[in-house]
Amino acid sequence: MYDGLSGRYTFRCPAAGEARVRLSRFRSLERLAGPSHPAVYRVRFACPCGEEHEGLVSHDELDWAPLGASADAFLNLMTGRLEPAADELLALAATRIGAGEWPWSFFCYPEGRPRPVFPSAFRLLAAAEERVGVAVRCPGCGGTSVNVVTQRHVDEPFFNDLHVGVVEHVFRADADALVDAFRAELDSGSFDARRLGL
Ligand SMILES: [Zn+2]
Ligand SMILES: [Zn+2]
Repeated sequence: MYDGLSGRYTFRCPAAGEARVRLSRFRSLERLAGPSHPAVYRVRFACPCGEEHEGLVSHDELDWAPLGASADAFLNLMTGRLEPAADELLALAATRIGAGEWPWSFFCYPEGRPRPVFPSAFRLLAAAEERVGVAVRCPGCGGTSVNVVTQRHVDEPFFNDLHVGVVEHVFRADADALVDAFRAELDSGSFDARRLGL
């Protein structure tokens, strides 16, 4: 379902049959209740057809596939053969994470500091002019923050904006209140630029 070459997830579209979208076109993520392993997320996404649809994504596809876990094979130029790629790509990602590089990060407003994160911590996303507003549940403190970032910051692992917009608002945890406050704060357009990275 995740295509590593294009960085897109494939979902069903009632109009076109199939839709291929990047992470930044996701609009909401909700972990489904139940003991499923891996966990499954219900995703709402902005389809190229103009409508929003729902689809399901596993936890692995959400967090690990963009790091190469789903890669089937790569062309080894030394041998001229297709070889399995996932192990090498994941090892490379692990090395970079070990060296302090973060595949994804955000600025936690309640804690006043940047934090590493995975896409499964994203709760809501919305287009905000040329950028993307994203509500993230902090894996550290459990608080929810809204950052305004570039599409690339969301879509491309290990690409982190130097500065992100931070909404100075403590969001309530319940989903309905979050949706309303998220939209209202993004529409107000007042974000403080904060520096990511240590
Ligand atoms: Zn569609
Ligand atoms: Zn936090």
